[in-house]
Amino acid sequence: MSPVRAEIVVDLAAIRHNVRRLRALVAPAAVMTVVKADGYGHGAVESARAAREGGAEWLGVATIDEALELRAAGDTGRVLAWLGVPGEDYAAAVAADVDVTAYTLAELGEIRDGVAAAGRPARLQLKVDTGLSRGGSTVADWPTLVTEAHAGEARGDWQVTGVWSHFACSDEPAHPANDAQEAAFLDALAAAEAAGLRPEVRHLANSAAAILRPGARFDVVRCGLASYGLDPAPGETPPDLGLRPAMTVRARLALDKAVDAGAGVSYGHTWHAERPTTLGLVPVGYGDGVPRHAGNTAEVLVAGRRRPVRGRICMDQLVVDLDGDRPGAGAQAVLFGPGVHGEPTAQDWAEACGTISYEIVTRIGGRMQRHHV
Ligand code: PLP
Repeated sequence: MSPVRAEIVVDLAAIRHNVRRLRALVAPAAVMTVVKADGYGHGAVESARAAREGGAEWLGVATIDEALELRAAGDTGRVLAWLGVPGEDYAAAVAADVDVTAYTLAELGEIRDGVAAAGRPARLQLKVDTGLSRGGSTVADWPTLVTEAHAGEARGDWQVTGVWSHFACSDEPAHPANDAQEAAFLDALAAAEAAGLRPEVRHLANSAAAILRPGARFDVVRCGLASYGLDPAPGETPPDLGLRPAMTVRARLALDKAVDAGAGVSYGHTWHAERPTTLGLVPVGYGDGVPRHAGNTAEVLVAGRRRPVRGRICMDQLVVDLDGDRPGAGAQAVLFGPGVHGEPTAQDWAEACGTISYEIVTRIGGRMQRHHV
């Protein structure tokens, strides 16, 4: 077997800790740990297990397949899926006791087909679009949706277990859209109640709102990013929250070498050495999910110091400036991690790349090995 070129190490104790921390913060509301997109790159099944151990009453995913993956791995707790596609086959999800979400009457019809095929009622949640203008019933269609959902409940097609919505600007606590969405959600809840629905849970908050907006916690908060220890609202989140980033990405230098002043580095020679220096070759690139925008901006910890990335990120490799040091081939290069040993964090990489930490951790991977510790 080849030696490890690059690896992602996921600290499951950190996920357990973060979920526990979030639970304590939002109690008496319950926590739904969001493990879509392979647990934001941390591994859906492993992250889900750690979240359950940390006390997550719910798991949240986008697709039905993601929910069924959790069931196949043995999870028997409450799981909510929220992103059906036209023609979705809900039978397996209904049979597996997954809470499914409807935005439209068409989806209610598809879920009813799934109920008939599964031979048992569904757990159904209804999502209202209170201002994100993404998934969810429009406010205009909501009264019809809740009326139909209630009729289906009366027929025994399903139990309406939840009513929910999603914020657009929760990482900006002062944004006026937050108050407007919360007010629209209260109106939608009132309409659902007027239609005869008595949902078990009402939920609106993602990580940022769960932390920053106590009034939006309702019965459950849906936390993704914070569960993995990353800050959902940099500059806004209280520093004493005590979340621990779970992901570390590291590699071994493939090579170090000396170059002369004037040497152009990587494709396009977007960086030139101003004086003689040493360079390190880190054997990961955009084929492993390293953003190409990290070229000439991000840093990597090598031999106790943060080393700037020089030149463009290649498919399989990137180059760092070792500033005269020669740590040698095989030296450890930490792209990002919790930040406690001087390494950059996923947030540092996000800022260097002009993106958000969600994208950094979710995209990283490709050919890298991933270990859970
Ligand atoms: N709820 C929904 C509907 C989502 O799509 C997401 C993620 O994007 C979340 C909750 C979790 O958001 P966050 O990672 O900001 O906690």
